[in-house]
Amino acid sequence: MIKSSIRKRTYRAIYRLLDRVSPVPFDCGTICEAACCNAAKYDDSLGMMLLPGEDKVHDKHDDWLTWEALISNEYEFPESWKGKIWFVRCKTPPVCPRHKRPMQCRTFPLLPHLSEDGELSMVFNDFELPYACPMIEDETELDERFVKATETAWKHLLRDPLIYDLVWMESRSRDGWSE
Ligand code: SF4
Ligand code: SF4
Repeated sequence: MIKSSIRKRTYRAIYRLLDRVSPVPFDCGTICEAACCNAAKYDDSLGMMLLPGEDKVHDKHDDWLTWEALISNEYEFPESWKGKIWFVRCKTPPVCPRHKRPMQCRTFPLLPHLSEDGELSMVFNDFELPYACPMIEDETELDERFVKATETAWKHLLRDPLIYDLVWMESRSRDGWSE
């Protein structure tokens, strides 16, 4: 697996921080039948990529996830990513041990974006999805505490050069789309 400088205790602290916030003050899964959790219904290749080192806070024997190791050079990952990356899928969506859900679930519907001069902001997910997220479609005003907490979490994660390279690569692609 590719190495990460983010320690297990940092991932745990980030999970705890994000456990205390939600994008909106109600269960948004009720307005869309939890479309994002059920993404595999639309495309069974979908799941969640764990960030480098994120597997440290998971147990591969947990029975609610399936694990697949992706080889970095077979996918569009940054040049600096050399090795294997964990990709997981949940077996019983939208039900999961909420305190264990991966970063990708915790940040959605936002993504981190780095400007050319390296300034971090959170933006709505703009990757193509096989379902419609009502919050993205409507650009719903999200809870300020959620936005701040996700930004704080990503500030910590971006200290890892590999994670920085990923967010940088995605941000430059995004800038390309909007030109
Ligand atoms: S984040 Fe979007 S797609 Fe996911 S449950 Fe909430 S409204 Fe639905
Ligand atoms: S881990 Fe939980 S929150 Fe994430 S997609 Fe699966 S069911 Fe949904």
